[in-house]
Amino acid sequence: MKKGALTLSLAGALALSAVPLNSSVVEAVGNGPGYGGNETVNTSILTTYSEMADFLQKQEAKQENMELEVIGQSVKGRDLYVAKYMSNPENPTILFLTQQHGNEQLTTEGALEFIKHLGTGKMKGVTDNVNILVVPMLNADGAMGDVDFSLEDYVASGDRNLTRYNAVGVDLNRDHITKIQPETKALHTNVMSKYDIDYMIDLHHQGANSERDGELVSGSILYPTTPNVDPEVLEGSKKLGAVVFDAVDSTGWGHLGKYRGGDAETISRNGIAVEYGISTLLFEMRGMSDHEYEPYVLGQKSNGYLIKQTVTTLESTVRAIADGSIDTQDTSFWDTLAFQQTRETE
Ligand SMILES: [Zn+2]
Repeated sequence: MKKGALTLSLAGALALSAVPLNSSVVEAVGNGPGYGGNETVNTSILTTYSEMADFLQKQEAKQENMELEVIGQSVKGRDLYVAKYMSNPENPTILFLTQQHGNEQLTTEGALEFIKHLGTGKMKGVTDNVNILVVPMLNADGAMGDVDFSLEDYVASGDRNLTRYNAVGVDLNRDHITKIQPETKALHTNVMSKYDIDYMIDLHHQGANSERDGELVSGSILYPTTPNVDPEVLEGSKKLGAVVFDAVDSTGWGHLGKYRGGDAETISRNGIAVEYGISTLLFEMRGMSDHEYEPYVLGQKSNGYLIKQTVTTLESTVRAIADGSIDTQDTSFWDTLAFQQTRETE
């Protein structure tokens, strides 16, 4: 069931530019207001699947370096995309993956902004020295609430709910060994197996009430924790994390903790590191776009920072790989970075 009045969606470009990217405020993202039942969670400001597809096709037409490819279809038949910047097969390659969980949308908004930047002077020359793959909105059906289960208890109002699970209720980020779902199958067959990928950042959103050192976090990060990961692959993951931590922490508004994650290889952070020897990093940003459980949902007032956190993450890592500075990263910060804790709510 959908709640509230029907809200017309904004056009893709408008939806992207409607989110303020205010750099003058230095308050941590974590201090932004949470949902807490005090504001309406309106999903009409988020880019829809078809707006995203339209945006990607327009960028491909505009950007000489970019190639858009369909890697498969979702359960409900939506085309799944990879945006590719592959100027030289000898270059190191990084993959950015968003929205395995359909209710974690701001990482996709950030990835689209990043793609736009790759076509401008701002990122000029970067793609000469690094190959970039972006798979945005892997769980397209969940992102559009086009699912075969009840949405009755979901928090967001308006005509669109967003769900963690795919259309048949499966968590795609627990399907990386069996690869049964069409979304995970498409990713593994037409991206993971097809390219010589060195790094991957898997972008997610977590609950809204995690803190580190007494301050709410803007996100948390973690490397592969399975004992089966190759030590060199693990070291690459920690270096990738070092680049991200420095870039986000130095903004003034970013505040990151260490994520508490399991060692199951059904999770991409672990499974992909072991199966393909790819250095992976999980980035969990604060607050989800929609959920049945209210404390996980964050109101849209923090959208600008969280989108910017994604753009900062993607741009800093491609630059560090392109100029080779990733290789000399100091990974010792991981030994002192505290695990985030869940703040007690009233
Ligand atoms: Zn997630």
